Amino acid sequence: KSKAHEIEGEMIGVKFDDVGGVGEAEVELREVIEYLKTPDKFTRIGAKLPKGILLAGPPGTGKTLLAKATAGEAGVPFFFLTGSSFVEMFVGVGASRVRDLFQQAQKKAPCIIFIDEIDAIGQARSNIGRIGGNSEQENTLNQLLAEMDGFKANSGVVIMAATNRPEILDPALVRPGRFDRQIQVTLPTEPGRLQILKIHTRSMPLSDQVSLERLAKVTAGFSGAELANIANEASLLAVRRNSGTITMTDFDLAIERIVAGLQRKTPLSE
Ligand code: ATP
Repeated sequence: KSKAHEIEGEMIGVKFDDVGGVGEAEVELREVIEYLKTPDKFTRIGAKLPKGILLAGPPGTGKTLLAKATAGEAGVPFFFLTGSSFVEMFVGVGASRVRDLFQQAQKKAPCIIFIDEIDAIGQARSNIGRIGGNSEQENTLNQLLAEMDGFKANSGVVIMAATNRPEILDPALVRPGRFDRQIQVTLPTEPGRLQILKIHTRSMPLSDQVSLERLAKVTAGFSGAELANIANEASLLAVRRNSGTITMTDFDLAIERIVAGLQRKTPLSE
């Protein structure tokens, strides 16, 4: 990801059509889109939107995609940061860089700032700094809190953040006026998985016997990212066979591979 995009904000082409199986999360974000499109409608009657929205859920469930779709639907610039790059940014060039970003965002409002892996900076202070301390991280967190407090409500800047572990976040981050709205993004249900499979095979030549319904049925527990991966693997297998269409066998083999890959990973991560 280029540094320029961090500072400039990027126009995003992603729409809600590209996100499947997130149900309630999408409904909640519709309001944010309304606000970004017509802030006046909200300010006129004194309604305040939360400054910060936390997307919480397992890896690969589409949190980043949802944030992008929110920007894409609203047609506003998207400033992307990851928690780890945020810390680096702070260590490397000081707080001024972080301040610059927030200032730029303010100028480009309405817009969205998205911080992925916010737990990398927002871990409870009681968990960091105990042994020798990680004061860089704490400084970065303080800087972020200061920037958020600096924004007026209804400034037109919506700060979204994603985490797999909302429970370890510093309570200061989730206080009113900061990330005070949490949206849960869960693993997709069977109809959700079907939607996601349709999205990711939309431009693929599938043979007539491919049943996405059956694939949705046998992929319980799979995330959106894993389903996207299945579609891609299946297409690669078809290419390898020199075939112009993707068959059910390609999908079955793709699932087998991905399941095998996941099983290999499990002992390491536990
Ligand atoms: P992480 O917590 O690992 O950062 P995330 O929740 O932010 O993951 P994304 O980065 O949005 O997940 O998902 C990765 C990719 O997986 C997306 O770019 C998309 O291709 C696919 N994907 C994930 N979830 C969905 C979904 N709900 N609908 C459609 N595609 C999805």
